Amino acid sequence: MAKGRVVFYEDPPSRTQTPARPVYTARARRRRRRHRLRGLLFALAALVLVSSVGYILWYTHPAHQNTLSDPERDQVETDADLSPEGASSGTAAAAGETGDGRIVVAIDPGHGGVNPNIGAEDYGSEANGLRENDITLTTARALYDLLEEDGRFAPVLTADGSAYLKPSERGAVAKAAGAQLLLSIHLNYDGDPSSSGFECYAAPPNLSTNGESLRFGQLVATAFSDLGLRLRGANGVRYLYYDENDNKLIYESTDSTIRWDPTFTVLEACGCPAVLCEEGFISNAGDMDLLSGDGCQTAARTYYDCICTYFNLT
Ligand SMILES: [Zn+2]
Repeated sequence: MAKGRVVFYEDPPSRTQTPARPVYTARARRRRRRHRLRGLLFALAALVLVSSVGYILWYTHPAHQNTLSDPERDQVETDADLSPEGASSGTAAAAGETGDGRIVVAIDPGHGGVNPNIGAEDYGSEANGLRENDITLTTARALYDLLEEDGRFAPVLTADGSAYLKPSERGAVAKAAGAQLLLSIHLNYDGDPSSSGFECYAAPPNLSTNGESLRFGQLVATAFSDLGLRLRGANGVRYLYYDENDNKLIYESTDSTIRWDPTFTVLEACGCPAVLCEEGFISNAGDMDLLSGDGCQTAARTYYDCICTYFNLT
């Protein structure tokens, strides 16, 4: 029997006449209801299927995976990644000073807070009873105090360990505060405990903030070298990019080629000159002698001196 709506007409419709209103038997009405119900169920099932496929595609997309796997990279809406030619240099000029003329400096202590993606505290790297987030926060707070006591700076912490913030959110805190400079503090890790040394990553050549970021990075690298840390790479200042498969690509800062791959999110999102420091290796005893414990205060003082030099303040 052919499926479909069963309709009975009182009279056969003619070509000239408007067909009479169909009259349904009780049986036909039941069939219509069943038909509608089947249609509704089918639509519902299709909706569930489409949403599931959509979710799977979103979840497995490299850009999203990235936020799960690499704590220093997440998606960011930014107006900072303009070509050097097209960029307004206003990012640094327009921002930066409070009403009382103090210079806004953003300090970004790497890691801390419960990361919902892993359902656990984001300690960063850990070795020999040391946790990266403890050292970065202690150093950042010490630097905050030095800048605050100076009186010429209005320091801002992008995070204080009480809550997990994505790199894009940390950058947004700096941007909203009108930061004129951002320093992100991290530590390196290697399974080989002999790996050691300082390296920092400046905002790369495709960002308008590259030149000033590089200048600050060079000051910091020189100062940490004077402190006794080995400089990694050519001179301790490097650029990092993520390729289309989210592999990290590292170039020396002596390579000024403009590349359009994304870099550390916080460097893009803050919209001001920015440097991410890997001060030393948490897995290396010599580096930690210099940078943990009382070393946090020494590192903070070193950053403070560099910030004063960067802004031509004595
Ligand atoms: Zn880190």
